[in-house]
Amino acid sequence: MPNEAGKLGALKILLVEDSPEDAELLSDQLSEAGIQASFERVDSEESLRLSLDMFQPDIVLSDLSMPGFSGYQALRVVREGNGSTPFIFVSGTMGEETAVKALQDGANDYIIKHAPTRLPSAVSRAVRERRAEIERQRVENELMRAQRLESLAMLAAGLSHDLRNILQPLLIVPDLLASRSDDPQLRQLASVVAECGRRGHEMAESMLSFVRGSNKPRERVAIAHLFQAVQLLLKSSLPDGVQLRVEHADDLFTEANYTELQQCLLNLGLNAIQAMPRGGVLTLSALQQDADNIRLSVKDTGDGMSEETLARLFSPFFTTKPDGTGLGLISCKRILESYGGSITVKSSPGSGTCFDMRLPIQAAAAPVASEAELPVALGRGQRILVVDGEATRLSLLGNALSSQGYQPWLAADGAAVLQMVRQHELPDLIIIDSDIILLSAVSLLLSMQELGYQGPAIVLEDAGETLQREHFPTDIPVHVLRKPLEMRGVFRAVAHALEKPAS
Ligand code: ADP
Ligand code: MG
Repeated sequence: MPNEAGKLGALKILLVEDSPEDAELLSDQLSEAGIQASFERVDSEESLRLSLDMFQPDIVLSDLSMPGFSGYQALRVVREGNGSTPFIFVSGTMGEETAVKALQDGANDYIIKHAPTRLPSAVSRAVRERRAEIERQRVENELMRAQRLESLAMLAAGLSHDLRNILQPLLIVPDLLASRSDDPQLRQLASVVAECGRRGHEMAESMLSFVRGSNKPRERVAIAHLFQAVQLLLKSSLPDGVQLRVEHADDLFTEANYTELQQCLLNLGLNAIQAMPRGGVLTLSALQQDADNIRLSVKDTGDGMSEETLARLFSPFFTTKPDGTGLGLISCKRILESYGGSITVKSSPGSGTCFDMRLPIQAAAAPVASEAELPVALGRGQRILVVDGEATRLSLLGNALSSQGYQPWLAADGAAVLQMVRQHELPDLIIIDSDIILLSAVSLLLSMQELGYQGPAIVLEDAGETLQREHFPTDIPVHVLRKPLEMRGVFRAVAHALEKPAS
């Protein structure tokens, strides 16, 4: 018994008892049984309420009748407002009837004062059960929270997919307009619209990457570009009193997954904002730390953290926020470590917090040749079969291609293509959206190959999706173009595909 009682740790036991001697006796009995505890004794409703508030007992042991106060009243006070502190009656006299009533009223147990051998085990059992219940509730809440997050993620994924489709014309039309007019004002307006479309797309994309956050392929990430995107995203959650500063050296690169790294910065940025309820400064900065590493920092001038919080910061589900998930920092840490990086934190109460992320450096790339202006018309009547289930994109692509002197054939799905090809001849190029229904892009290309097609193909790929390139037919050179589409990119890819086969 003493062993088992020891595992409970030090308890706070509140005695509702008018007799100091009886109280003394109870505490002696518990101590002798190996229960470590501090005691407080009350004998009126007022002092009971005060003690529940200040002492916050782990368990209440109550006498049944006292002058001016009763155990039943005490029980009612403890159970008010869903109070679930364990409550045991300890009474000099207790008949069966009284005992049953006590349990019905919500007591956890009852003990006869002068036969107290059962007291220590009843106390530890009640405390253990209560703790198990709290733990069960915590796990249940965690689960519900995870489920909520999951449905939110699905919602966001669907939303961002639709949003990207809706915004697609904004990326295509302005280039078309500009190419059909010499009016400088119109061209200027077109570029404004295109820029908005790009921004909207970026946001939809980031939303998607924010909810996905899986193990993704690495790429070369330009920190300047990354910071720009994060700044854009944080702006919408920036309260009035919080100022955002961004400082970075030029030409910093690392190898990472762009969206994952963006998610890390967003998590840290949002934490920082939440730590500054009365306003302050949020600083994102980046510098070269040493020959092999860069350092990204997210710094705030907020509340800071206690030693206790600092110690548990990176544990899953640790949160000090009523609606927090406690998953932000742990996922940052995992992501950074998967790139061979690390994360550290400096913080103290009242003086703000700084998270430093170390990431392996990547050498600056050779300068890329600037994008040359496109010649007026690239096409010479080549037949381009465009397969896309998105009606707007399909017709825009058709328009754009014919404006460049190509001859587009449009089909909404694979079945339409096969019919078209059987009736006519084979095209010179196929552009196919990876999202088409009825036949997948892969099986459509396989069917085309069977029909004798050996020309090139351009597959339009969703950002965040990685096509299984090895399944494509070997005779057809496949180029991949990422959505969102920009007309210049499409024209370049078309010219390139028609000119030489893919590697
Ligand atoms: P959540 O934000 O959902 O609580 P996190 O894993 O992002 O989960 O953060 C865990 C906890 O770390 C937070 O609840 C908070 O107590 C503490 N914390 C994180 N960032 C900061 C910060 N910049 N300033 C103060 N406390 C922070
Ligand atoms: Mg967080």
